[in-house]
Amino acid sequence: MRPVPLALLVLLLSLPLPARALPPLADSHVHYKWNQEEVTSAETAVQILLDNNIALALVIGTPAEHALKLQRLAPQRIIPIWSPYRAPGDWSTWSFDKTVLERARRALASGRWQGIGELHLISGFTPAWDTPVISGLMKLAIEHAIPVLLHTEYSQTQYLSELCRTHPGLKIVWAHAGAILTPAQVADVMATCPAVWAELSARDPWRYVDNPITDKDGQLLPAWRQLIERYPDRFLVGSDPVWPVERLDSWDEADSGWQQYGRFVDFHRTWLKALPPALAEKLRLTNALRLFGKDPATGQ
Ligand SMILES: [Zn+2]
Repeated sequence: MRPVPLALLVLLLSLPLPARALPPLADSHVHYKWNQEEVTSAETAVQILLDNNIALALVIGTPAEHALKLQRLAPQRIIPIWSPYRAPGDWSTWSFDKTVLERARRALASGRWQGIGELHLISGFTPAWDTPVISGLMKLAIEHAIPVLLHTEYSQTQYLSELCRTHPGLKIVWAHAGAILTPAQVADVMATCPAVWAELSARDPWRYVDNPITDKDGQLLPAWRQLIERYPDRFLVGSDPVWPVERLDSWDEADSGWQQYGRFVDFHRTWLKALPPALAEKLRLTNALRLFGKDPATGQ
């Protein structure tokens, strides 16, 4: 056996261990919020992404500019998503805020943003999907050819189906695959809305405890596996590093979600391993790369 060249050995040893061992992953649901920055600096957050071999991360800042703090440190890996949220509770009031459209228009004109979201559309809080702020943002996304990240939380699929039918050119990254919906309901949306990519963040046993996608051993449930096999190009994975979990967002205490980052991503890595390699690679990496116009072979 020939000895490993010294320079190569030094390079390999200088890489953080997980990055050497783990295949690259695209994380389609990342937050960097002001109450996360209190406990996790931008530098630390980017190091966590590198340690977990994250090749691409869709980052939603609160306020929006927080995403750019990460992007400055890792421009090749970070896809900044423009968020209208600025203050505590905005997740529940944004669709009534008359300044949203003008702010979005100005932000998108800068060319720095590659998506809009995460927009919470939640039963009991959100008006009809055809009200001016919601419709206006969807039209802006189409105009700029960028996706929207929507978090819908309804016990039925009608809200999203009607919205997608009304905006046929709109690409939707669907957070948590509808959060509380069953595989059969998700199947309905996938059939009705050809430009929906279902993203599976937080569908783990610690967040959506009543409807995770896996069994107690961390393996994908059969109904989810069938659905993924039916739409192999339209599923994504993500971490959604928010902790402790509170649906209504806690603004008075720091969010330590980044300290849980490895656990949230490993959840996906575990069940992905049991899929055929070509299918696993789509969900783990290349579906997200394609969605953002990157070459799946090079990631560039
Ligand atoms: Zn989120």
